[in-house]
Amino acid sequence: MRWSQSFIPTLKETPSDAEIISHQLLLRAGLVRKLSGGLYTFLPMGLRALRKIERIIREEMDRAGGIEVHMPALQPSDIWQQSGRYETAADVLYKVRDRSRKEWVLGPTHEEVITTLAANELNSYRQLPKNFYQIQTKFRDEVRPRFGLMRAKEFLMKDAYSFDASDDGAMASYRRMYDAYTRIFARCGLKAFPVEADTGVIGGNYSHEFMVPAETGENDVVYCESGQYAANIEKAVSRGSAVPTPSVSSGEAPEKFPTPGVVTIDALAAAPYLVPAQHQIKTLVYVVDSQLVLILLRGDDQLNEAKLMARTGAVHARPATADEIVATLGARPGSLGAVQQVPATVKVYADVTLRDARGMTTGANEDGFHLRHVDAARDIRVTQWEDLRTVKVGELCVASGQPLKIRRAIEVGHVFKLGTKYSVKLGSTFLAEDGSRQPTVMGCYGIGVTRTLQAVIEQCNDKDGIYWPMSVAPYQVCLTVLDIAPAGRPMQTAEKLLAELTAAGIEVLLDDRDDRPGVKFKDSELVGFPLRVNVGEKGLVKGEVELKPRKGVVRFVKVEDAVREIVAHVQGELAALNADKAS
Ligand code: ATP
Ligand code: MG
Repeated sequence: MRWSQSFIPTLKETPSDAEIISHQLLLRAGLVRKLSGGLYTFLPMGLRALRKIERIIREEMDRAGGIEVHMPALQPSDIWQQSGRYETAADVLYKVRDRSRKEWVLGPTHEEVITTLAANELNSYRQLPKNFYQIQTKFRDEVRPRFGLMRAKEFLMKDAYSFDASDDGAMASYRRMYDAYTRIFARCGLKAFPVEADTGVIGGNYSHEFMVPAETGENDVVYCESGQYAANIEKAVSRGSAVPTPSVSSGEAPEKFPTPGVVTIDALAAAPYLVPAQHQIKTLVYVVDSQLVLILLRGDDQLNEAKLMARTGAVHARPATADEIVATLGARPGSLGAVQQVPATVKVYADVTLRDARGMTTGANEDGFHLRHVDAARDIRVTQWEDLRTVKVGELCVASGQPLKIRRAIEVGHVFKLGTKYSVKLGSTFLAEDGSRQPTVMGCYGIGVTRTLQAVIEQCNDKDGIYWPMSVAPYQVCLTVLDIAPAGRPMQTAEKLLAELTAAGIEVLLDDRDDRPGVKFKDSELVGFPLRVNVGEKGLVKGEVELKPRKGVVRFVKVEDAVREIVAHVQGELAALNADKAS
């Protein structure tokens, strides 16, 4: 391919609406263009890189026993009603109507469609296990589409769904996908690591996310340097707060004392009260699936909403409004407490840290007053003790006992063991060996293909632009001709190299533009081709061309050795990425 005949609109300036480096480089390197927030057109270089990631995914999915299919993006609403996700996933669903006013859903994911297929087609244990996958466009009405392809309204996903006859079988399918994902990301040149994950609205009981460490990521990952533990903060646990909770009772009954104007943990911790945050009980009011509930935490802890949802099995949870609080509890936020006057219908969820908490201070449920000498288990009618707090840096790892760390990361993939949730709802059953009819045991496995592409850029860039791993580069080699006169020696040599390298299976882009060498070099580095070959008269006089790896030093090779040297270089880098996949 010739640069002059392709379409690579590079930009000198950083686009002002692109906040993170990978988004800026997507635009500057001419890989994509924005149509509207969260909607992008892929230009030739972006599309080629995307296709290469897809190819790696297909190879590894096929190798792991996946069967490729292609499902409709447009889906009848009925199957979403049937699974219950018409309600639970309502906030991301794009809905459209046809001419007869019938409603359809633009698929944000495909559990409903594939399980309907399985219900019709997989009827005997002899047909199991099966693992279907596709690479397909998904639609999600994201609250905040941003960061280019990272959080888009329309994006490409590889989604796979396994059907097994038993739980053990489902676990084995899960493991195969987990291993395939490890290989896929390694082959893409990405440092991705698996972490334990919350299962969220999709349901199920076992899950890992594949995370790429990056400051710009939207996830916090809690991890232990021993390598024995890593989890999404939504799911992470520890051996508990590093600061002990008071556990000695004063023996006295709760006592009310005036605290005019005090409505925060910090204000009560300050003079004249001086009640340390860890001696306070914080009372939050939430509306969980339309029920008002109280949530109790130690004063210095934060509520983890994902845990609240998981522990209560809730579909929706939000903080109650001040009006809702006053109407039910008779006091305003800041003075709330669960010791007195909590209507019997209001459930009280307390964090387990408080189970042995004694001599605590909390709101009196009366504006301007607090209570002291509160022994949580003695004085509060707790409906359920649960782990509801967010883990903090420095708390001890449940596995190794060492201090935990937290870092930001990008979620590129997600594997779930679903169990029978969808198969039961959508009627995917099979005739077991013993003649009984049983629901299939499912798993589902997603990779954000377009997000992965951008994650590679987020990880592989420097001041000059992108440096693609050889496996996903739009072209492996950029052949830069320094003088494009058609009859001249440089162009003649470059044409010959182009033909020979192409015949040898190397992907070459010939930069035949009528531009100064400096401009061409800059563009080639910005777009990020892993190897540039400079062909100019100065070198040819000595019978040489220049090999400049994007992340390496220039070396000169004889024209007659060039093809062999270039092939060896490309294959060497590909082999290194393939070797990584085993680790
Ligand atoms: P997130 O937490 O980032 O919203 P998710 O957990 O909802 O993602 P999944 O349903 O697990 O996403 O989808 C599988 C994969 O699809 C994710 O791991 C991610 O890589 C990708 N993905 C999800 N939402 C988007 C989006 N809006 N734009 C681009 N990729 C996405
Ligand atoms: Mg996910």
